[in-house]
Amino acid sequence: KSIIDEIKIEVARMDASIYVVPGLAVIFFFFNVRLAGLAVILVGDREDSASYVRNKKNACESVGIKSVDVCLPEDSSEEEVLKYVLSFNNDPSIYGILVQLPLPSKDVDGFHPFKMGLLAKRGCEPDFVPCTPKGCIEKRAVVIGRSNIVGMPVSLLLQNEDATVTTIHSKTKNPEEITREADILIAAAGRPNMVRGSWIKPGAVVIDVGINHVQDPNGSRLVGDVCHEEACKVASAITPVPGGVGPMTIAMLLSNTLTSAKRIQEFQ
Ligand code: NDP
Repeated sequence: KSIIDEIKIEVARMDASIYVVPGLAVIFFFFNVRLAGLAVILVGDREDSASYVRNKKNACESVGIKSVDVCLPEDSSEEEVLKYVLSFNNDPSIYGILVQLPLPSKDVDGFHPFKMGLLAKRGCEPDFVPCTPKGCIEKRAVVIGRSNIVGMPVSLLLQNEDATVTTIHSKTKNPEEITREADILIAAAGRPNMVRGSWIKPGAVVIDVGINHVQDPNGSRLVGDVCHEEACKVASAITPVPGGVGPMTIAMLLSNTLTSAKRIQEFQ
């Protein structure tokens, strides 16, 4: 909340000083397209993607960042997607483009191979860090998962902070023995309730990145990779699912968009 509040103040300060409102672009076919600053391009009609885009739009609105959205059909050609990316690139009111399926251009989600390379190379800093890992960073950790989107950049960010980092992946034997050593445990495996209370060192800080849909007699609900009920009796602090890393990811997306606008406008 404090990050969102700070972004709101900065957006208002920019608007009052140089009459610039940063924007993000989202792409839907059947909605009116409004001019704005951060562009999100959504390909296909996956329900979870649609809800992420909705949350991003609402978050933009809450801080005064304008958003544009366009929804393309699942079978859109690369040329069609690129056409939108190019038009947002050429739109001076757009300071960031978020593509639900990543494409290399004004990519404030930070997945471009060049940005990933800068993150991995010691002594170099990428101009934007992927939004989910940026929301997780802390002093020392064991990271479950090594994907390009979460696990790998989280590990690199922690190393850049001089943390000693151990990565667990699907081929790791006895993961619970490793997690019990962790002062900070970051779970990003996409496996519901995989991390039990007994896997956690007493007093550890647990960041649960996992978002998993599970069915129970009351219908579908969201759970993380960590068994929250057990973990909160052992951990000193733990992020909930939903309502933890997800909103922090969105806060970081807004922060990256604001940074982009400030850089382009040379606004201090
Ligand atoms: P991927 O499926 O790309 O990667 C999963 C990683 O976890 C892989 O490295 C895999 O290992 C590892 N893994 C899978 N099963 C196990 C296991 N049983 N034991 C140990 N390691 C395992 O997923 P993502 O990284 O994209 O996402 C991870 C989770 O985070 C998902 O639930 C996703 O929904 C959520 N997420 C949440 C976000 C947020 O904003 N809160 C943003 C992005 C993702 P291997 O490499 O060997 O296959």
